[in-house]
Amino acid sequence: MTTPSTTHELQVLIDRLHAEYASLNQGNVATYIPELALVKPDEFGICLVTSEGQMFEAGDCDRQFTIQSISKPFTFGMALEALGHEAVSQHVGVEPSGEPFNAIELQSGTNRPHNPMINSGAITVTALLHGQHGGAAIDRVVERLSALAGRPLSIDMNVYESERRTGHRNRAIAHLLVNFGMLQGEAEAALDVYFRQCAIQVTCRDLAMMAATLSNMGRNPVTGQSAFDIREVKDMLSIMFTCGMYDYSGQWAYRVGVPAKSGVGGGVIAVVNRQLGIGTYSPRLDVYGNSCRGVAVCEELASRLGLHVFDCLNVGSSYLNAIL
Ligand code: GLN
Repeated sequence: MTTPSTTHELQVLIDRLHAEYASLNQGNVATYIPELALVKPDEFGICLVTSEGQMFEAGDCDRQFTIQSISKPFTFGMALEALGHEAVSQHVGVEPSGEPFNAIELQSGTNRPHNPMINSGAITVTALLHGQHGGAAIDRVVERLSALAGRPLSIDMNVYESERRTGHRNRAIAHLLVNFGMLQGEAEAALDVYFRQCAIQVTCRDLAMMAATLSNMGRNPVTGQSAFDIREVKDMLSIMFTCGMYDYSGQWAYRVGVPAKSGVGGGVIAVVNRQLGIGTYSPRLDVYGNSCRGVAVCEELASRLGLHVFDCLNVGSSYLNAIL
């Protein structure tokens, strides 16, 4: 199949990718949070939203699942906005770790988490937000994610309770951070906000809309509401580009070449700057904790549409803007 040159052909491409990758049955749903083991492993959605708000979708795009780590770039953006670069960088770095998302490891020398996309960094960022807003921190996060999605979001209390009960590894990370003075205040209070933010329910369509909002310099292309200033968007996209897919981030940059973030709930977002937001949902995960079908679909979309930042198709006026 050649590169689509009309919106109809783009829809045909998405339908074909959905049909083709529905038979990719590699990977397993996350079970370390017991409630996540209950999801239907074969649900599968692909949604694209342009920076102008035009939507293309295939499959299960209105099924709700938990956002998990896809919340991390947004809480990082909120912390930067509230505290500034200087203060945030005293607590968390911006280097890829090359380690799994849940590694119990801090940067040698500084004792900071490597970056805000892995659990140690994200828990630190959430603790900073809790330090700023106290008990209102989680409401601020839900509010901001709702502005990005363009509809009111809520928390899946079963998933939250499930992770709160069993999240001993994250608890260990939080206490390590307290030990090194990276996390001030109550570890348990920060963890509570973190577990709740991870349990925010979204659909694949919400994810595509959130990604489109980032692609549109922080303004939701459908509601017109500004969710983030361009300065924070630039910072969020930079970290998503280098660290968003954990220890697959280098391969992702090489093969797909756009900022992205995955979550163990099965979601993936990818952002094509000034052009497009992509959201996928399929809960079977690979060894890195990234959705198998989500990665495969994004790789093929990037190559078909020339989305990679360094692709020759992506020179000057964008390919997508030319056909939309
Ligand atoms: N809540 C999950 C955890 O902390 C999020 C991890 C993820 O989505 N990669 O383990």
